[in-house]
Amino acid sequence: MTVALDTSTPEATQAEAERWEALRRRDPAADGRFVYAVRSTGVYCRPSCAARPARPENVLFYANNAEAEQAGFRPCKRCRPDGPSQSDRRADAVARACRLIEQAEETPSLEDLATAAEMSPHHFHRIFKQVTGVTPRAYVQASRATRVAGALQQAGSVTEAIYEAGYGSSGRFYESAGARLGMTPTSYRRGGVGETIRFAVGVCSLGSVLVAATGRGVCAILLGDDPEMLLRDLQDRFPNAELIGGDSDFEATVARVVGLVEAPGTTGFTLPLDIGGTAFQQRVWQALRAIPAGRTASYAEIAAAIGEPAAVRAVARACGANPLAVAIPCHRVVRSDGSLSGYRWGVERKRDLLNRESKEAAQ
Ligand SMILES: [Zn+2]
Repeated sequence: MTVALDTSTPEATQAEAERWEALRRRDPAADGRFVYAVRSTGVYCRPSCAARPARPENVLFYANNAEAEQAGFRPCKRCRPDGPSQSDRRADAVARACRLIEQAEETPSLEDLATAAEMSPHHFHRIFKQVTGVTPRAYVQASRATRVAGALQQAGSVTEAIYEAGYGSSGRFYESAGARLGMTPTSYRRGGVGETIRFAVGVCSLGSVLVAATGRGVCAILLGDDPEMLLRDLQDRFPNAELIGGDSDFEATVARVVGLVEAPGTTGFTLPLDIGGTAFQQRVWQALRAIPAGRTASYAEIAAAIGEPAAVRAVARACGANPLAVAIPCHRVVRSDGSLSGYRWGVERKRDLLNRESKEAAQ
């Protein structure tokens, strides 16, 4: 009889106990660290396999696939220990669904997407949200809005662009275009002509803060030392919009933004945001908003979270392009080794914000 594990030392006994515990919990974190084989069935499995538990006397542990196969066992068809891991397969399925949404002529339904991913609609919805940070529906809307934005710059008329983007009725398009693009299609095509943006500069403990808003919500929060530089930055971001100084009503908005900067971990910030950007940037920014205050994530983790593990640099660029300091917490993204890396509004401000959040979290 083959004995795969040495149980002659206390360390080996401890390792064996940990393997049994991983099996009992079907712990996905143990996948790749060892496999177990079942004598009665002749197959070997990942620790996380959903198959019915085997009788302990039939179980053998092996360090890897090769050893299990050398001992004459076949890979399980259910957990596929010889294929990619479950989390890799899920990330793949979600990435395929994203491509499907982006390329489809007609918007695919949740059922279509789930069928293509070989999951139940309920399960697919949960996995998609887990991987991307947004629901399939939100992703469909962001993707469509981007397509409209692209088509508008080329198409002859707004109506053509609407039909090219797959919106059957113009009425429905206008309903959602304001919410997604932050501007009407006509003003978007002319680079913001006709759009009115109110702004004001306030003072906070991090220096000057410029707050700007369209009729739909806050569209920019910029931090810096020099109010004039901040205003120039705003003009560069919205070159054709009409910028007007905020009136006394607008001061309340500025005050609430200053409050957010002073206490960045606050959950009471409920001002509506007018978020533009490409579908990719929107996915990155949604993922940033999911990082809890007092915590940080690496660029690679954000890339993995949105199902684009190879797009680390594009994620870093999207963080740098974020127009809504603190409200979209790009300051919570650090290098993989924990060092701060850059920050659009100065690395000292980033350090300051993170210190404040860890103090708030400790209270
Ligand atoms: Zn299995």
